[in-house]
Amino acid sequence: MYHYKFKKMKKFLDENFLLSNATAQRLYHEYAKDMPIIDYHNHLPPNEVAEDKQFENITQVWLNGDHYKWRAMRTNGVEEDYITGNKSDWEKFRAWAATVPYTLRNPLYHWTHLELQRYFGITDILNADSARKIYDTCAEKLQEKDFSVRGLLGKMNVKVICSTDDPVDDLNFHQQISKDDWNIKLFPAFRPDKAMNVDNVNTFNNYLSLLEKAANVSISTYNDYLAALKKRHDYFAENNCSVSDHGLEEIYAEDYTQTEIAGIFAKIRSGGDLTLDENKKFKSAMLVTFAEWDHEKGFVQQYHLGALRNNNSRRLKELGPDTGWDSIGDFPQARSLAKFLDRLDRNNKLAKTILYNLNPADNELFATMIGNFNDGSTAGKIQWGSSWWFLDQKDGMTKQMNALSNMGLLSRFIGMLTDSRSFLSFPRHEYFRRLLCNLFGEEIENGELPNDIDWIGEVVQDICYNNAKNYFNWQHIDEPAKKKSKV
Ligand SMILES: [Zn+2]
Repeated sequence: MYHYKFKKMKKFLDENFLLSNATAQRLYHEYAKDMPIIDYHNHLPPNEVAEDKQFENITQVWLNGDHYKWRAMRTNGVEEDYITGNKSDWEKFRAWAATVPYTLRNPLYHWTHLELQRYFGITDILNADSARKIYDTCAEKLQEKDFSVRGLLGKMNVKVICSTDDPVDDLNFHQQISKDDWNIKLFPAFRPDKAMNVDNVNTFNNYLSLLEKAANVSISTYNDYLAALKKRHDYFAENNCSVSDHGLEEIYAEDYTQTEIAGIFAKIRSGGDLTLDENKKFKSAMLVTFAEWDHEKGFVQQYHLGALRNNNSRRLKELGPDTGWDSIGDFPQARSLAKFLDRLDRNNKLAKTILYNLNPADNELFATMIGNFNDGSTAGKIQWGSSWWFLDQKDGMTKQMNALSNMGLLSRFIGMLTDSRSFLSFPRHEYFRRLLCNLFGEEIENGELPNDIDWIGEVVQDICYNNAKNYFNWQHIDEPAKKKSKV
């Protein structure tokens, strides 16, 4: 009989998960683990934070709204009734549990078990057999006060979260939360996607009615429209907003004149359809306008580029957007992105900017693009954002950090964000930190980096927390123990 020589096998998801050597373990446990979290872009619902929602069971907090899990279930042959349909919460959970063993090597397998461990202390593997016990244990815990929405965020040592808000949003929930005695900040973010999307003139005109109401401005001309939007931008700033975000296939950077744009706007208002050329000119003008306002107010602007959305028209009709029918697009990014950033930089109107690519083929493109517009005014002024959506996993994050190291300064990186719709997704910061510490740990042990734990530990803490805190000017949030910085 053949004798297998196993080297010592690590336990699944133990305290040294993803940490392949002692130095990586030391960096994680002594430097990274206890750093607080700044989640500067996500899609958490502010109303649920305001009411401090308590969930009845894990389906409500874990499966409702998580289109990553929905895609996996569909791929595994689960009927839609058990995903977004009318089946009971328990039946939906059981269907997910039965799917989990088939998600091996998908990040969902790690997220799932990490989240069960960190929030509920459950170390069992989730599958059809363990489903009932895990469902009941979670349901019981979710009744406890510290498992409310705010309790869940508190468990993860979160300091700041930024939601994603439309210019017409009244921000009432944010106002309510800011008055509460709560040590986590929830800031709004200005995301004007609908305010510049003229693909469907009808939809856009309907949106303008909402904008008229929100801004209390009647909109007939392009100038009225700008005045209304500017009012909302000001209103967001008055409500502690200092971040904007855009979700676009690509940056639009056509040449245009203000007269042309005013004419295009008049055409929109009279219900006329735009040519492709007019459509792009209009979007180009709006992107510059928003960016100039962001610069004026010292906002940080974010651009999420490259998703090809709503590809399944039948399902879009049934379920609406953001339900799991999007994928990676192959839009050309470099030339228009450079032109757009240059337009702003040339006029000294380029705000701090974070660029996120969804297509991994654009990694090096983005890693080098940011270097074109770093002007020495602040460290890491132009950031290449952390791996996002389909790239938000071990391979994607590692590749992003390696390309950033090779072509930029990893040490000035503002690090991880969840971009999530779920209150249980914050262990993704831990996942990121483990990968980060492992990269440094391996190179220290290989002799590729000096064994200067004090310095590299400080860099790790910067990437986990301090860089983001300084970048967004959120020094006023609680600081960890002071440490001296190396010149
Ligand atoms: Zn997002």
